[in-house]
Amino acid sequence: VLTAHAVRRAFDDRPVLAGVDLTIAAGEVVALLGGSGSGKSTLLRILAGLDAEATGPTRLRGTAAVVFQEHRLLPWKRVGDNVALGVTGPDVRARVDRALAEVGLADRRRAWPAELSGGQAQRVAVARALVREPNLLLLDEPFGALDALTRLRMQSLLRRLRAQHGFAALLVTHDVEEALLLADRILLLDEGVIAEEIPVDLDPDHPGDRPPARSPDHPA
Ligand code: ATP
Ligand code: MG
Repeated sequence: VLTAHAVRRAFDDRPVLAGVDLTIAAGEVVALLGGSGSGKSTLLRILAGLDAEATGPTRLRGTAAVVFQEHRLLPWKRVGDNVALGVTGPDVRARVDRALAEVGLADRRRAWPAELSGGQAQRVAVARALVREPNLLLLDEPFGALDALTRLRMQSLLRRLRAQHGFAALLVTHDVEEALLLADRILLLDEGVIAEEIPVDLDPDHPGDRPPARSPDHPA
């Protein structure tokens, strides 16, 4: 669903990304780890089409939607209007209601962002992404600011939504356990390149189980 090749970006002649190659298959969830300042957010913004200064071809099939670390809801718009922002069509209201229901906030459509808890606001941000029916979700430490229990709930929600919708995702996170829990593959960004790729060997149908033993009919 996404291919990026030799992505480069420098700030004031200081290179941050020095040739990043990245491919994400349809439905695949890839976690991106890396130290603070390694360029994770920079890369995500480039992939989201939000950085005109970067070089290196990026090809996206379908639509992408972004969830940032801060929810970035507009405080002067009600929750439902925040989710509807930029969405057009005759059935916007029904789609907004469905997206809010999917994150468990069907009853908060007319609330103001200031009336929400941090976790609720982040769920609205997820609904705002979902309503676009994205093929690719770009998530920049979406749960980093939440307390541990809320984070666990959001991780669980994301797994359920993924199973329902089948979107692909690039998940930027500092949290190794979150990467293991949610991703099919882990990439490490270091010194401006993808320095390491770590496969996560879980059977997606049975998370937590060992991979299925290979039968004689299907040798490795
Ligand atoms: P963190 O884990 O702390 O979020 P990150 O991996 O997301 O870090 P980036 O935000 O991508 O890191 O920043 C990478 C580097 O690029 C940093 O050194 C940062 O100071 C620099 N940088 C990012 N955006 C800009 C900008 N608009 N102008 C100048 N420098 C920038
Ligand atoms: Mg960042």
